[in-house]
Amino acid sequence: MNTVFFDHNSTTALLPEVLELMLPLMKQQHGNPTSRHVFGRNARDAVELARTQVAEAVGVQASQVVFTASGTEANNFAVRGITANLDPAQLLISSIEHPCVTRPAMHMRTSGWLVNTINVDAQGQLDLAHLQALLKVQTGLISTMLANNETGVLQPLSEVSAMARQHKTFVHTDAVQALGKVAVDFNALGVHAMTLSSHKIGGPLGAGALILDKRVDIQPLLLGGGQEKGLRSGTENVAAIVGFGAACALAINSLNAYQQLTSVLRDQLEVGLRQLNANIFGVNSAKRLPNTSFFAFPNVEGETLVTALDKAGFAVASGSACSSDSNEPSHVLLAMGIEEDLARGSVRVSLGQHNTAAQVEAFLVALKQEVQRLKAMTAIAA
Ligand code: PLP
Repeated sequence: MNTVFFDHNSTTALLPEVLELMLPLMKQQHGNPTSRHVFGRNARDAVELARTQVAEAVGVQASQVVFTASGTEANNFAVRGITANLDPAQLLISSIEHPCVTRPAMHMRTSGWLVNTINVDAQGQLDLAHLQALLKVQTGLISTMLANNETGVLQPLSEVSAMARQHKTFVHTDAVQALGKVAVDFNALGVHAMTLSSHKIGGPLGAGALILDKRVDIQPLLLGGGQEKGLRSGTENVAAIVGFGAACALAINSLNAYQQLTSVLRDQLEVGLRQLNANIFGVNSAKRLPNTSFFAFPNVEGETLVTALDKAGFAVASGSACSSDSNEPSHVLLAMGIEEDLARGSVRVSLGQHNTAAQVEAFLVALKQEVQRLKAMTAIAA
């Protein structure tokens, strides 16, 4: 049985065009970009082309791109590196961040930072009035994501930046889930730093980037040979960086087609979900990613449903799936005021450009069966 992949927010398959470009770099063209010989120079040129492609994807100059090994590293770098060069003040994050923002932010408490979280409303959107109130305290950095990985809800980053500007506060955004799914323009958002990740857009694992406004003074996490203008030491993962650059170029070219296809499938899915009386989260928010649907059925445990659907041939995720193996209810749903029991039942479908209407239809049939079966089992046990 071929399992249908409906978990594109966790990772994506490497695009064949990207693999083709990476293979020679891993086989015969094995230069170290810092070497002066022809192997090194070729590797350097390949990295610089990729830097241009990543920069173009978010509308910045190539010199603003610092390559990292992952989105996680870029988020840690932003939060720890920007605060390290500021006097301790307030650090604000939203209550729905990925743990790779929340944890480094909380860590800054050990250096005297006051870390507070900005609430979200019932649709999972940042509460700007709460942010305004929090900004009465002197704030060095706000780190808040552009698109939530669970609900897909897009956040009002331009408004956050405008408010931050009045308080001379830096803004970092984790745009890992937004890239390739919606247009992302660094300058239009008015942020000072932005995190991207390669493997969410058909690029390889092992590459990410932090985009920096030229005014930002940041301390590196990794010290060593001084690569990436001293901001990220370590020999560049040339093949992965090249793959990341190529994936960015492809994602931008296919953005319209991607949005068209995934939003039609997502709407098809949600019509079926409503017929099954599912609670769909964030559905009334102003804007969502086109590919993501996050839902739950009362009295059906999310992890159990995900396992049952896997057996039925569909790979989906439960809430907070990319952050831990634990049975904790989704922190995103709790932040939205959803009751713990329902939050524990959450399931995320994240579609990709190769999914089809027939797959969605088959999924709805399997989902109906599994939900009925699990509900019956719960009723017997009760
Ligand atoms: N930020 C968000 C919103 C994510 O969804 C993820 C991955 O799931 C990350 C950051 C981490 O990115 P990476 O897997 O490249 O470390």
